[in-house]
Amino acid sequence: MPVAVFDMDGVLYRGGVLLPGAKETLERLRRAGWQVFFGTNNSTATRQEYVDRLATLGLGGDLEHVVTSAYATAHYLERLDPKPADVFVVGSNGLRDEIRAVGLKVREAASLPGNDPPPTASADGVDPGAMRRYLVGLDLPPPADTVVIGLDLHLTYAKLAEAQRAVLAGARLICSNRDRAYPVEGRLLPGAGSAVAAIEIATGRTALCVGKPEPFLFEEVLRRADAHASLAGPGTRGRAVVIGDSTDYDMVAAHRVGATGVLILTGLTSEDALAHASGEAVPDRVIGSLEDLFSLPELAGT
Ligand SMILES: [Mg+2]
Repeated sequence: MPVAVFDMDGVLYRGGVLLPGAKETLERLRRAGWQVFFGTNNSTATRQEYVDRLATLGLGGDLEHVVTSAYATAHYLERLDPKPADVFVVGSNGLRDEIRAVGLKVREAASLPGNDPPPTASADGVDPGAMRRYLVGLDLPPPADTVVIGLDLHLTYAKLAEAQRAVLAGARLICSNRDRAYPVEGRLLPGAGSAVAAIEIATGRTALCVGKPEPFLFEEVLRRADAHASLAGPGTRGRAVVIGDSTDYDMVAAHRVGATGVLILTGLTSEDALAHASGEAVPDRVIGSLEDLFSLPELAGT
């Protein structure tokens, strides 16, 4: 069974608006026996939230076919030897929940040392030394053995300090993704990469990245595709095609797992930007819309 992996935002929809041909494309692929997966770097929403969103948009899909960077991170941690025993997350509860779901112990957000500064320390401009004195005076638990970073809309200096303490004591450093920006309604906000960079600078260490452009997220997709395909007999996976709107993330990750990278020009990448792509970021195929997908040789007979 061939495998199609769709990035979502900029490919199937933009914000809440479905892109032309999205529904028909997925239906046609599924009818022709393709396994259709969805792979996203977003680490804040749970897979169920994506399934609900896909259902609302009429795109189908279920938990088995949605892989987020949070989910892929959890499964990456699960396979480490030795397994993490005490995970500190700088990120969302969605990320914590995915890691707990594979049976690993994750600290509660509320248990953060430094979570509860007195007003003199938390107010900027009142007493610059108060936060330092507060942090220095904390009663600290043993450092975590693993630090995981994702998009954190409640990032604080105390969280950076706790992550730094653990990593300097020898903890593994892993991030769900290094996205520069978090595109929201009408503007950009800082992406997970801003927190990753802060902790890397504070520790002198480089985080292992699970999400795109690294291969681990798509490897998790292909692992699941193999599990499904093996029900139909060994070696039935066949070819894998990634459809994404980013050269730097989707195309690079596709190539790192040996998939065909199809760039669609309905999202992040314009034709002008495409001209600047080099190396692994150069797509194998470029399409202007989802309707063009079926004219590609990789989709012949579909
Ligand atoms: Mg995208």
